[in-house]
This record gives sequence, structure tokens and C-alpha cells, in this order.
Amino acid sequence: MIVFKFGGTSVGSAENIKKVAAIINDCNRDKIVVLSAVSGTTNSLVEINNCLANDKKEDALAIIDNLEISYNQLILELFNEENHHLDAQLFIKTKFEELRSLTNEATKNEKIFLAQGEIISTNLFQIYQKQLGNSTALISALDFMSIDTNEEPENEKIKTKLTAILANNKAQTIITQGFICLNPDNEVDNLKRGGSDYSASLIGAAINAEQIQIWTDIDGMHNNDPRYVENTFPIGEISFDEAAELAYFGAKILHPQSIIPAQKNNIPVLLKNTFNPEAKGTLIKNCHNSTGVRAIAAKDGIIAIKIKSYRMLMAYGFLNNVFAVFEKYHTPIDMITTSEIAVSLTIDNQKYLKEIVAELNTIGKVEYDTDMSIICLAGNFSHSGKGISAAVLNCLTDVAIRMISYGGSQYNISLLVEKNDKVRALNLLNEGLFVQQNKPQEA
Ligand code: ASP
Ligand code: MG
Repeated sequence: MIVFKFGGTSVGSAENIKKVAAIINDCNRDKIVVLSAVSGTTNSLVEINNCLANDKKEDALAIIDNLEISYNQLILELFNEENHHLDAQLFIKTKFEELRSLTNEATKNEKIFLAQGEIISTNLFQIYQKQLGNSTALISALDFMSIDTNEEPENEKIKTKLTAILANNKAQTIITQGFICLNPDNEVDNLKRGGSDYSASLIGAAINAEQIQIWTDIDGMHNNDPRYVENTFPIGEISFDEAAELAYFGAKILHPQSIIPAQKNNIPVLLKNTFNPEAKGTLIKNCHNSTGVRAIAAKDGIIAIKIKSYRMLMAYGFLNNVFAVFEKYHTPIDMITTSEIAVSLTIDNQKYLKEIVAELNTIGKVEYDTDMSIICLAGNFSHSGKGISAAVLNCLTDVAIRMISYGGSQYNISLLVEKNDKVRALNLLNEGLFVQQNKPQEA
């Protein structure tokens, strides 16, 4: 079986939904199709929740009205056969009446609101497949996708439930929602923003799929951030480890956690472009056949914290005390560097910054900088130990580097710079590590 996942822009308009259907129907294999919400919908649902939380029910209702108008326009363009258009119309009408009634008990229904985008897109997609004369099965992710009290997916349960559902479903194409799940209290919940990729990977792992295909609006994972650097190019093949580093440190194409289930079960992940299906895309798999820098990504919103021990020497137990503070506030650490008297580390979650700094002050002298960026270079650095860090740093002689982390894993070099220097650093690294490297040598 193959898992196909299509993102928000891929199902973002009638025209695009038709493209998605063509891609799927072109593949004469058993498959599960995981859909995101129509682009913009989840943001609108977040806004609705915000309005309701601030006692602005009228504003919430206005957003619901506008959303309904946009869906009515979408189905007008998608369905040219009257009976299917009527089906879709009835579905939208019922759904939006339900949304309006959900506004009455706002706080209780926050997660239920957020789940509606995927429920709408999958239902409309199934009706569209009917119009095309294809029989598909729509299964609810709420019947098999679940998380535990730590918000971690319940892999075994997911596998058991999904296997049972599939045993009773012989359709070649099965459609389901990304993002949504149940929590331990059996309430509707979700896998966090961008979580549809994660759903696809969890489903792929649960059914031991042959391949997981993630379809978005770009020709695969690029060697550098195309928003800031010109002439980037898609990478044909990349290892799970490298892709995980890139996804975590800023490559927007993939939800960071989504690599893990695929990697654990050794299921290749193919990143493809819905709007350019001929492009090869990027294949993420178990391969470590290249050396050197494969790709660069950057992550903003980083806070760097330096703790200088009150004692001159790095006494034992010091790091333990430092880490305990972050553990207490459930704040993960991204980068870390140490010296004999101080430790610098980074976090990307500001929520408990004040509390963390106050507690760290009892252990040592604390300084922190906000608005930093981590530049992540992913690649396979095991055999090219010689020269690689020099080549990287050589590109950046003109950029102030606040921290360097090398050797933590064989697949990552991280640099911390001020956010204002990020774009320049990305371009300098691109020039030095990709453009110059590929220039033909002069005779
Ligand atoms: N619709 C959700 C979001 O916008 C999940 C996803 O698209 O992956 O975050
Ligand atoms: Mg996404």
C-alpha cells in the first residue's frame, strides 16, 4: 500500500483538488489518501477560537459566514453534475450550522473547531471522486488515530484499529483526515499545526506501507531556503537523519516529527509537487552514500542563554542542575556548547523564559539574547572530518557567530547568529559550499 498526503495548497481550490484526484487516480494501487484542510481554513478556525475566547461571538460568526461563502464558491467550481453539487451543498450547509451551534459552548469546543478543516476537505474530496465515477471509502481518523497523556501517538493502538478498519474495507482508494486524533479522554484533539505530515507517517508505519508520498507545492527539499537564496535546487535523495535535522531546524516542507515513524519502520518518504508532478521530488530513505554538506536550513525565534558558574571550575552536578530547570518547565534545548566556566544553550519556546532565567540565576550568572537564528547544515560529515568545519567557517568570516555546535551528530553542524545576519549567512554559505564547489575549475 502507498500513503499519499496532500497539503493545504494542494486542496486549496477546485482546480487544485482536480489535480490531486488526477494524481491519485493515475496510480492503480491500493492507497490511503491523507488530506489537510483547504489552505487558510485552519487559520480561520484558530481565529474563530480566539474571537470566542475574547467574548467576540459576533466576530466569530462573521468569520464562519465568510468561510461558508468561500466553500460554496469552491463547490460551485468543483461540481458540474447537479446531484453531486447538491450533495456537497447539503454537506456544507449542515457543517456550517454545526459550527454556528458550536459557538455556544466556545471553550469546550476549541479542538472540535480545529478538526473541521480536515473533515470538510475529505468529505468534499470523496463526493468529487463520486462525480468522477470512482468508488472510494472515507474513514474517520478519529476511529484510529490517538495520542496518550504525553501527547505522543499510541502506535500499537493505531495499528490495531487501522488494521481492523482496513480488513473490512476493500476500496482501492481510502480517504482520511490528517492532523486530527482522539486524546486519552476520548475527546477530539490534534497533532499540532502542520500535523498532517505526521498523520501520514504514522499511518504509513501502522500499515507498513511501501512508500509515504507527501505532496506539497515545491519540487522537494531544497539545498537551501528558496525564500532567501536564489538558485537553490531540489535534492534528489537524502537520508532520514539528514532530513530530520533539516525539518527540525527550519525546512518548512515537512513537519519535524514526521520523519520518525517512517524512519523507525524504514519506509521511504517521497516529497512531490502537486503542481509539477513530473519533477522527480526528493526521496528520503536509509542512505548515507554522500559526504559533505547536503543542505542548509534556518530556524528563527531562538533564544540563547548563557549561564556562568559562580564557581570558577565546572563543578560536577552543575549541568545537571541547569538541565533540571529546563525539564521542570518542559522546555526543550536545541543547541548547547560548554566551556570550563560557562554553558550556552538555546531554546525556541519563550513561554517560561522569565521563570527559567530566575531559577538559573540561583545556579550561576545568566545572560540571554532573543531574536537569534540557528543555521543548520545537514550532511554526512563522518568521512570528511578534514576541512569541513574550516570550509563552513571560511564562508562566514564576515558574520558574527554566537555559538557553534559540531559533532553532536554526524549529520549536523549548527551555527547561531543574530536573526539580522541570517539571510546574509545563508547566501554566503550557498556561494561557498554549493556555487563555488560546482564551478568548473580553470585550466
Ligand atoms: N490543517 C492543519 C494546519 O493547518 C494541519 C496540516 O495542514 O498539516 O496546521
Ligand atoms: Mg504542511
